[in-house]
Amino acid sequence: MRLFEGTAFDRPPRCERCSELEADCKCPPPAVVETPPAKQTLRLQVENRKRGKQVVAIRGLKLSEPGLAALLTTLKNSCGAGGSIDEGVIEIQGSQIDRVRTALEKLGYRTK
Ligand SMILES: [Zn+2]
Repeated sequence: MRLFEGTAFDRPPRCERCSELEADCKCPPPAVVETPPAKQTLRLQVENRKRGKQVVAIRGLKLSEPGLAALLTTLKNSCGAGGSIDEGVIEIQGSQIDRVRTALEKLGYRTK
């Protein structure tokens, strides 16, 4: 039994924007507001991976998952390298840290 069951407070949840029952709501999901690049200071580091491979790891990103994926695509294109995301850290294959830094700074990110 719910706390307010049978009282005026026991209403099924409604959407705050269209007032429809949540089950009937067709509002688009709220847009994700990303932290502006100028407010993000990223740490770049060349790190060794298995089988003698090197990657440039980008830490300190404050982005949603779609935001991270979009940034990864941009960086892969501008660096001409593969890459991946691991627990909020973007890794670009290779050791071209200056190229990654330049690409990030062009997008407005601060790096150190
Ligand atoms: Zn709605």
